[in-house]
Amino acid sequence: MIQLYIPLGFLGVLYREIKQSLTDLDKMFTLLEKEREIADAPGALPLQLDGPPTVRFEDVRFAYEPARQILHGISFEIPAGKTVAVVGPSGSGKSTLARLLYRFYDIGSGAIRINGQDIRQVTQGSVRQAIGIVPQDTVLFNDSIEYNILYGRPDAGHDAAVAAARAAHIHDFIERLPQGYATVVGERGLKLSGGEKQRVAIARTLLKNPPILIFDEATSALDSANERAIQAELRSAARNKTALVIAHRLSTVVDAHEIIVLEHGHIVERGTHAQLLAQGGVYAGMWALQQSGADTAAGSPPASAAG
Ligand code: ADP
Ligand code: MG
Repeated sequence: MIQLYIPLGFLGVLYREIKQSLTDLDKMFTLLEKEREIADAPGALPLQLDGPPTVRFEDVRFAYEPARQILHGISFEIPAGKTVAVVGPSGSGKSTLARLLYRFYDIGSGAIRINGQDIRQVTQGSVRQAIGIVPQDTVLFNDSIEYNILYGRPDAGHDAAVAAARAAHIHDFIERLPQGYATVVGERGLKLSGGEKQRVAIARTLLKNPPILIFDEATSALDSANERAIQAELRSAARNKTALVIAHRLSTVVDAHEIIVLEHGHIVERGTHAQLLAQGGVYAGMWALQQSGADTAAGSPPASAAG
């Protein structure tokens, strides 16, 4: 009856270890599944780029599940080096556009082209290399915060990581961590707040310095002082880049080449800020609401809940 002498605490540890291993396995299979969904076409070549490219969505239709169509024929163009903004209510399909450009999923019909090249016909790795994405919800790797910032350009070195962290206003925070830049973060390390994770993702993207940028409500989890400061960094990062900016705060899209208003997976309005205001439609209504302060940032948590 040797088992009787095993301390209960040990069983607890053992249980947690097994549970964690199963969780990891589960994640691995999820990743593998995703890999299978979006394999490279036979003989696919790397994306050919020469500076910031033109990005085109051509009559893009998409559904996560066959029964529920999410995007109903979306067409727009981001000219080389310009910013196109997408606004609209939560659930309208904005983040889906970002995920499709990054090729997390393949589209149902239509095409997404970068400098005329269908992203399904070039290698997935080369598409992702060309794009920097600040997603709505950042998941960090269980590794050092420096690794997380350098991910995408691992050979850039410590000084580059620090410069990017400064630009993303996360350097002082990192310096105060127990092991500074070597502190392990992520689900099994130090857990960061939504705003801190968002700033790590911004640092990563600034460091990667790719020709195409996607900001998906990139500052939605920040308090307003941090948000204003970082918005300026993002604006300068997007200069001469081809950028898709999904915005919760309309003041950040005023200068966009084109603003697209999405509702239920349809484009319901499009134009420049001035054109849309003059039109007096959905966008003008959203703008008036935000200007009045009644809705400072549609769909985002209050500043007090941010990190
Ligand atoms: P937005 O960013 O505008 O808030 P999303 O693009 O995230 O909207 O989502 C659009 C629609 O797609 C929503 O109805 C959402 O529930 C659904 N959706 C998003 N991700 C998935 C998924 N992985 N599987 C199934 N449905 C999803
Ligand atoms: Mg979204």
